[in-house]
Amino acid sequence: MTDTYIPYGRQVISDADIAAVADVLRSDFLTQGPAIPAFEAAFATRVGASQAVAVCNATAALHIACLALGVGPGDVVWTSPNSFVASANCAIYCGADVDFVDVQPDTYNMDMNQLAERLRQAELAGKLPKVVIPVHFAGQPCDMSALDALRQQYGFRVIEDASHAVGATYKNSSIGDCTFSDIAVFSFHPVKIITTGEGGMALTQDLELAGRMRLLRSHGITRDADSMVSPPDGPWYYQQVELGFNYRITDLQAALGTSQLAMIDRWLDRRHEIARRYDTAFDGENLTTPVQSSGVRSALHLYPIQVENRDVAFASLRAAGIGVNVHYIPIHTQPFYRARGFAPGMFPESEAYYARAMSLPMFASLTNEQQDRVCEEVLKAIR
Ligand SMILES: *Cc1c(COP(=O)(O)O)cnc(C)c1O
Repeated sequence: MTDTYIPYGRQVISDADIAAVADVLRSDFLTQGPAIPAFEAAFATRVGASQAVAVCNATAALHIACLALGVGPGDVVWTSPNSFVASANCAIYCGADVDFVDVQPDTYNMDMNQLAERLRQAELAGKLPKVVIPVHFAGQPCDMSALDALRQQYGFRVIEDASHAVGATYKNSSIGDCTFSDIAVFSFHPVKIITTGEGGMALTQDLELAGRMRLLRSHGITRDADSMVSPPDGPWYYQQVELGFNYRITDLQAALGTSQLAMIDRWLDRRHEIARRYDTAFDGENLTTPVQSSGVRSALHLYPIQVENRDVAFASLRAAGIGVNVHYIPIHTQPFYRARGFAPGMFPESEAYYARAMSLPMFASLTNEQQDRVCEEVLKAIR
């Protein structure tokens, strides 16, 4: 990283990470080897789930999670408009329809009161969602107890898009232990909490869902005689029992992931320290800092502020070498979704938030000196 440009997010790679990847390069397996189940087991233990399926990215994990839950043509999947497009695209991949539930103005997470009202109406219309995908925006867990009560009342399934939330906790549970969901999905893209370059993982407590996702990850092919529809021809035999994909992660990536796991707690502590320093620097200033809900510990993937003159502030910060970004352009306003009948105005809270939103640099290796420079430039830009 240059001294002058400070990005909004960045990976941290240690000598131990490099050594772990180099070990795989010298080993027999670059893919389909032992580093993958080792990463899955270590991550599953860390978050408290019994089953883990590592894949090439979180988008693939969301796709096979939807398929494992039986999402298909005629079904509807609901998610948050304040997310990356992958949270919605996963349902379209399965031939299902997508709809959105607007966000709370303070946490920017799915508003569970609006969800309750929308479910009431959907039940009357006979069009309940098959799956709801809450997104733990910026690493802050959604109100999972409220969601769980609605899940029990209406019978939909839940996939947590926990791409931002590695290491986050909700009340007494760890995000990923699936206390309030069927499947939780994490991303290991370099801007997220830990990285494998590209990579993702689906966690579940359900052995059958995990089995289906493993099958879908690798062409729908099984080598397990018990899972075949007829006896194997011989020891070489494999059988394709459904249409799957090549969504595998490599051993190189998995080894990097396992090595990175050891750092989660320290990195989250540092992210919280950075957030407190921003909170203090901006206290009393004309901008909105992100709210931290009680009873949760955010992974603080992002530090999104809201400012009046966002476009001007954004331009002057970028000109000053501060890599601010905007998360997120509401999904329903994207041309692809407009062509499917959505339009601006439909989810006003996410649109109002988007109009003023700006994510400041937030990553574990951001130094106090760099952060002080960011604060100074932000205050210059908004005054
Ligand atoms: C990053 C991200 C994804 C996609 O993750 P990939 O690993 O890049 O496929 C999905 N949802 C959210 C909310 C994300 O931030």
